Amino acid sequence: MRGTDEATVSYSQFINQIEAGKVASAKLGSDRIIYVLKSEETEDRSKQPKEYITIPVIGDSELPGLLREHKVEFSALPPSNAGWIGTLLSWIVPPLIFVGLWGWLMARSQGGGAAALTVGKSRARIYSEGDTGATFDDVAGVDEAKAELQEIVDFLQHTAKYTRLGAKIPKGVLLVGPPGTGKTLLAKAIATEAGVPFFSISGSEFIELFVGIGASRVRDLFEQAKRQAPCIVFIDELDALGKSRANAGGIIGGNDEREQTLNQLLAEMDGFDTNAGVILIAATNRPEVLDPALLRPGRFDRQIVVDRPDKIGREAILRVHAKNVKLSEEVALDKLAARTPGFAGADLANLVNEATLLAARKNRNAVTVEDFNEAIERVLTGLEKKSRVLNDLEKKTVAYHEVGHAIVGALMPGAGVVEKISIVPRGVAALGYTLQLPEEDRFLMIEDEIRGRIITLLGGRSAEESIFGKVSTGASDDIQKATDLAERFVTLYGMSHKLGPIAFEKIQQQFLEGLTNPRRAVSPKISEEIDLEVKEIIEGAHQIALNILQKNRDLLEETAQRLLEKEILEGEELKEYLKRVQKRQKWKVGF
Ligand code: ADP
Ligand code: MG
Ligand code: ZN
Repeated sequence: MRGTDEATVSYSQFINQIEAGKVASAKLGSDRIIYVLKSEETEDRSKQPKEYITIPVIGDSELPGLLREHKVEFSALPPSNAGWIGTLLSWIVPPLIFVGLWGWLMARSQGGGAAALTVGKSRARIYSEGDTGATFDDVAGVDEAKAELQEIVDFLQHTAKYTRLGAKIPKGVLLVGPPGTGKTLLAKAIATEAGVPFFSISGSEFIELFVGIGASRVRDLFEQAKRQAPCIVFIDELDALGKSRANAGGIIGGNDEREQTLNQLLAEMDGFDTNAGVILIAATNRPEVLDPALLRPGRFDRQIVVDRPDKIGREAILRVHAKNVKLSEEVALDKLAARTPGFAGADLANLVNEATLLAARKNRNAVTVEDFNEAIERVLTGLEKKSRVLNDLEKKTVAYHEVGHAIVGALMPGAGVVEKISIVPRGVAALGYTLQLPEEDRFLMIEDEIRGRIITLLGGRSAEESIFGKVSTGASDDIQKATDLAERFVTLYGMSHKLGPIAFEKIQQQFLEGLTNPRRAVSPKISEEIDLEVKEIIEGAHQIALNILQKNRDLLEETAQRLLEKEILEGEELKEYLKRVQKRQKWKVGF
């Protein structure tokens, strides 16, 4: 029997062959499907038809998934009589109607939440104007982030006002902050405030559900968005998508799928006109793993920090979440805020809810302080695993430590201005921090400044020593940094007077980083001298830091107490404290 070019088979045979892994590729049409088998299945080519034809069961929405699962290459059949719109309609619309209907039912059964509808091929959920159910009033304690986003809303509403003068509206805004601080909430609120369509998709959704076609999803998403401009495209958990290509998978290669999706995203961002009225907002709690290409100008060039709230912020957030809760009279939200350092917005929302549940279980008419106390304990035990919540002694230690940095830092040459001291824990790593910003861009560091930095780094530990007489483990990171800096001072910058301008450390070549020995071959004697010199620098710096703090012990006490009260010191108040230190120290610190 001679093989024909085509053979018509039943739909069920087609499905069986897919499941048996025999199908190589398929072309899907509205009225027929043409497919070919893998070559190893056709032992005798002459006896086998080249192509198989089957009549699809209209609306089998599982077929694309099945094809994907068995890695069958598939595409749409060029228009026959129904045309490709028909094809598209028959394959895309039935599942859409189903999902839409389902979404509608879900929304109804939940008493009318934001009705989410899957649009087109992209999984982005579109919310019609003002339908995200969140407004700026629902977000509290992150006023700076809110103010910056307000500006974005203004861009969307009054695009002409800006473009008239030739301004370029930002394309991408990146919300950065620890989990549960309200990034997703802010993005939803901005859509409501601006009254524009809001497309939302999460980075992990891309990866989990659409392996193999992530890039086309991105394209679809932007197609949709451009058609609906002005609008907002929100990508949550951008880090899942935008992980740095450099560390994606060793030296060569990496995660192909993610990389393609990421490249498509970058291409789309470059492709759309700045003033097209599409603003891309993304959120991440791991900015450090993002591909640097994402942060370049013209992409996510605006970054907005959404940090854990301070005491006043926490009170405001509690107020938002307690709005519809019956509180008994003696419940004071400011006191509650004082007792919950380190809680993010989501933790506070959780706290209010837990307390309310407890009260309800006890058949009370209102939520009492007792309920809140019990709820705090519950939330805390959950939190302790995730992030640090400090006890009183720890808090005190951190406060003195940070003020130590600030006071010493205020006296060092070229060290910049101490902008902010905080003892609101940030993640597992940092319990508190002192933010010191340079007054201008610096490209060179003078010897004195390096010594100044080392002294400032040791200021934290020195404060702990002079107040408590012992040090905590909290200073280890500072000591690490100070020692590194001192070593570079000697071995890389050649600044040591004893050892002279010899570089003992090789500049590392990026490609082989970690594979070479960073130190030049040196004699044991020189090696010992280097170690001694580093030790001397550190010890000298430590002495200076201790001296400064001893002289300013009263101010150290006073500032630390104030910091304990407020948790964050910044602005004029902080400046006042530091000015008092600077006035007292008439002599300039020299080395
Ligand atoms: P993120 O995206 O930063 O991880 P979410 O926006 O998902 O955090 O926050 C989760 C929930 O926690 C919100 O829906 C809200 O109820 C509450 N929440 C978080 N931050 C705030 C805030 N700043 N103000 C009010 N509620 C907040
Ligand atoms: Mg989120
Ligand atoms: Zn420190």
